[in-house]
Amino acid sequence: MTEKEELESMCKRRGYIWQSSEIYGGEAGFYDYGHLGSQLLDNWKREWKNYFLSLDDNYHLIQTPNIHPYRVLDASGHVDHFSDVMVRCEQCGSSFRGDHLIEEETGESAEWMDKEEIGGKIKELGLSCPDCGGPFSDPEDFNMMFGLDLGPTGEKKGFLRPETAQSVYINFRREFRALRKKMPLGLATIGSAFRNEISPRQGVFRMREFRQAEMQIFFVPEIHEEIFEERYEMIKDTKVKVKRVDQDEAVEIKLGEIEDLPPFYLYHLGKMYEFYTKVMGLSFEEVRFRELSEDEKAFYNKIHFDLEIDLDTLGGWEEISGLHYRSDYDLKQHQEESNTKLSIPTEEGRKIPHVIELSFGVDRNVWALLDRGFKNGDRTWLDLPVKLTPRQVAVFPLVRKDGLPEKSRDIYESLNRDFRAHWEKSGSIGKRYARNDEVGTRYCVTVDYDTMEDDSVTIRDIETTEQIRVPVNDLTMILRRLIEREKSFEQYMEEQD
Ligand SMILES: [Zn+2]
Repeated sequence: MTEKEELESMCKRRGYIWQSSEIYGGEAGFYDYGHLGSQLLDNWKREWKNYFLSLDDNYHLIQTPNIHPYRVLDASGHVDHFSDVMVRCEQCGSSFRGDHLIEEETGESAEWMDKEEIGGKIKELGLSCPDCGGPFSDPEDFNMMFGLDLGPTGEKKGFLRPETAQSVYINFRREFRALRKKMPLGLATIGSAFRNEISPRQGVFRMREFRQAEMQIFFVPEIHEEIFEERYEMIKDTKVKVKRVDQDEAVEIKLGEIEDLPPFYLYHLGKMYEFYTKVMGLSFEEVRFRELSEDEKAFYNKIHFDLEIDLDTLGGWEEISGLHYRSDYDLKQHQEESNTKLSIPTEEGRKIPHVIELSFGVDRNVWALLDRGFKNGDRTWLDLPVKLTPRQVAVFPLVRKDGLPEKSRDIYESLNRDFRAHWEKSGSIGKRYARNDEVGTRYCVTVDYDTMEDDSVTIRDIETTEQIRVPVNDLTMILRRLIEREKSFEQYMEEQD
């Protein structure tokens, strides 16, 4: 099996993630999270909120519906422009994204091409249907939004939202007033988005229903730039890895050395990098920002870098989040369509706020954690940060007799109040360790015959498989110190020697 197949197999067998409607043969582009996957998803969202909402005391979370009325997405441009170029096989009827067919052949991005260009290129390359070899129809634009009738008579139209961003823009005015007109204002939301992908084939990287976590920061550049400049000054020695449009490779560079981007952008770039290295536990080398070319980026994005991670299961660098300076485009569009004033009063007259958007694909981030964490060498184990892993600690009895199961159950119940704990007694101790290694249980506590004598247990560390022996009374304190990184497992081991 390939690395990808091994990880997918583990995710299914152990309860992380699998294709939805499995017993009916599965449906492309939809995935279910099982008991472990769902917990990992929740933990990621919590850490994301903790980190990004704490960047400023005027950054807040809102929650909104998944359905927008027609006018919202007409104003945003999605009704007219949110489409991919589709080609159909005239022989077998299969549909494909035209740009993907070209990319597979040439290895170069074709996302920017319109349908005429794609049609020309397909002819030039002599491409035919990958499924049956048949000829293609002329390319057509296919709008990826799922349309809906609102109400019983069907005269009101709506859509499942294709992104969470518009939900925030249409609430700017209300929150700006509710928060006493304080700026900059950050509004975050985490929720589902829906895209009727033509042929979703990249697992959780191209889903028809997926989750986004986004922070939209509203500010007026000439007035609020200073606030961000001060913050930028504090972190401008931070190193990041960046691949500019004119570079073949990503280079390591200090934020302060990037002279052509504004401080408000660089500050958030640095903070996003820090989230990946400090919270998600990735190494500096595994993360990079890639600047998008004029052809690749949306016309309203003045500056656009994708954050990419090098993923084994997808064969290289893949976008998992992005930082977009969208200027005043969004509020301008909604002001016009809604006939509602979205400008704000300033000393220099009324101004329409600009937006910098920190956008994260939640499913992609969760998959990146699984991909980077999955170790499949001499031993299979999952290296998830202890704050994120669904199981922080498991408790077992060495054998299933002589009161050991009952004792281990008591310990589990006391730990379960403070940690994400798990208890099991089936199978041999070796098999329990192996199962827990595979799903990323950070620490395993074992109750043995010595426990019954001196009330001590062993704690085993997933990474090294080394063990320490500790009094049951100190267990909660020791686990807390390990989780909070106040003390390392190695330090405890040294103390025992
Ligand atoms: Zn065909």
